Amino acid sequence: VARRTYTVDEFVTGILASDITCLSQAVTLVESNRPEHQAIAQQIIERCLPYSGKSMRIGITGVPGAGKSTSIDTFGMHLVKQGRKLAVLAIDPSSERSGGSILGDKTRMEQLSREKNAFIRPSPTAGSLGGVARKTRETIILCEAAGFDTIFVETVGVGQSETAVHSMVDFFLLIQLAGTGDELQGIKRGIMEMADAIVINKADGDNIDKANLAASHFRNALHLFPPTESGWRPKVLTYSGFYGIGIKEIWDMIDEYRHFAMDSGYFTEKRQRQAKWWMYESINDALKASFYQNEHVQRLRPEVEQQVLSDTLSSFVGAQHLLDTYFEALKGK
Ligand code: GDP
Repeated sequence: VARRTYTVDEFVTGILASDITCLSQAVTLVESNRPEHQAIAQQIIERCLPYSGKSMRIGITGVPGAGKSTSIDTFGMHLVKQGRKLAVLAIDPSSERSGGSILGDKTRMEQLSREKNAFIRPSPTAGSLGGVARKTRETIILCEAAGFDTIFVETVGVGQSETAVHSMVDFFLLIQLAGTGDELQGIKRGIMEMADAIVINKADGDNIDKANLAASHFRNALHLFPPTESGWRPKVLTYSGFYGIGIKEIWDMIDEYRHFAMDSGYFTEKRQRQAKWWMYESINDALKASFYQNEHVQRLRPEVEQQVLSDTLSSFVGAQHLLDTYFEALKGK
């Protein structure tokens, strides 16, 4: 199918008019690594930026099987029925290796995928975690400009991707399960510390008592953590994504947080800090790429690396040598 190509103006106008085809194609440009696509994408983002920022951005994490897709489907339907517009994005840096994203896949969110007020987009595949996360952050801007008032960013709760998600959302929801013996279920302490709420899924049928017990374990564990910066005490709730039990309570809690953080000024402060973090992150990425792509550095690197391996050069001297080469090459340009 031959795609119609839009000009930057048409992209911006289309996005602001909530044209989903246009939004999708703009996101494709954001995700592309081709310089000419990036150039257009950056112009679109720049022009959409003034219209962004008004949504509630929520990170959702949990190990595979915790019930993320089932829950997002249910949460999403709850919101859409209230007249809200939801975008579901994902960050899954492993998706390239595994040959496809397991997150943000439309077929995993059956009801939501049929809603016109829901925009579901799988994780960008190409690139490092930093690159993938940046693309998702930029996609948030476009979705907000297109009128989406709630953004979910889904991630698997096992790796570093949580830090990246944390740096782009207002509220971080950790989905856990009860009754597996080890309540921490491979969730690192650091991830628990980031959570604004821990929600225990599958609290249905025979599992209700176990879920309540797990909830009290988590409450006790959270008490041992230092107070959060926002002054918000992370909450623990049980629910069933499959049967739709306890869903309203979760949204009431998120609304409570929103009011709390808005009133204290923390909401804005956190967003400003995130914006600053992303600026420095972009600088770091660009500097690193420039260094490693430099032809002099590339030529010299195997040799220096070999010397470091064979102990003829210390790691620090080796690094300095390559850096000097890089800075010299810049001057010579
Ligand atoms: P994900 O890997 O985190 O996205 O998890 P899924 O949403 O795919 O759910 C994993 C499995 O748990 C599926 O078989 C779901 O049907 C089941 N499941 C999800 N939510 C619930 C729930 O609330 N109750 C019960 N009993 N099962 C659930």
